[in-house]
Amino acid sequence: MPAIYSSECQDPGTVRLRQSSTRSSTRTTFGEDGTVRRLAAVGVVAANVVAAVALVLWLGHRSAGPGAPTGALAPPSAATVWDGLGPQARCDSAVALVTQPDPWPTICRWREATDALQGQSFPPPKGAAPYDDPHIEVYIHQGQSRYDVAHAIAHELGHMRHTREPDFVPAWLAARNLSPDTPSAIWTEDYAETFAALFGPPSDQWRAPTPRPGAEALAALRTRFFS
Ligand SMILES: [Zn+2]
Repeated sequence: MPAIYSSECQDPGTVRLRQSSTRSSTRTTFGEDGTVRRLAAVGVVAANVVAAVALVLWLGHRSAGPGAPTGALAPPSAATVWDGLGPQARCDSAVALVTQPDPWPTICRWREATDALQGQSFPPPKGAAPYDDPHIEVYIHQGQSRYDVAHAIAHELGHMRHTREPDFVPAWLAARNLSPDTPSAIWTEDYAETFAALFGPPSDQWRAPTPRPGAEALAALRTRFFS
């Protein structure tokens, strides 16, 4: 049976990834947690409608051009608008900063700043639960910037790209100077973070337990693995 990859993406130093050889154990874990997550996501979608409409109206005002009224009608600062958005609206805004399309359902919810779990992905191919619905989950805390959320989305997109049945692992490990027996918990985070470095907004973050590739190495990886 092929390995099953389900990433749990955390702050640097606490990254871990679940690799299971049995579907039953994974299904049990997700069944308890996933139900709660999905219910929460439905709630925030509704709650975000007002904030999203407010943002659209504000952006419309911003694009009115030189003739637009000023002074008392000046738009709020960008920080104020961002602060007023719920988690789903923040993802919907931040994904525009990612230079690769996100074709996957992307469910975003709040997390406490002290909660290290920043997201999870359920990569293709489709299979038994929890992989019957390939999607991304991103957990946002109030203090995260739009760029930081975009980086998190790009990271999860990287996980979706390596899929649950990667056939390039030996080549990736060699290209990254990683041992051939590097656990999937390590190399998948390395791969996802490389993807985020290439296609997310500029960031100093490197959320993988591996050395960050330099600019030249990144360019070579892009040509070889992401073209
Ligand atoms: Zn990850």
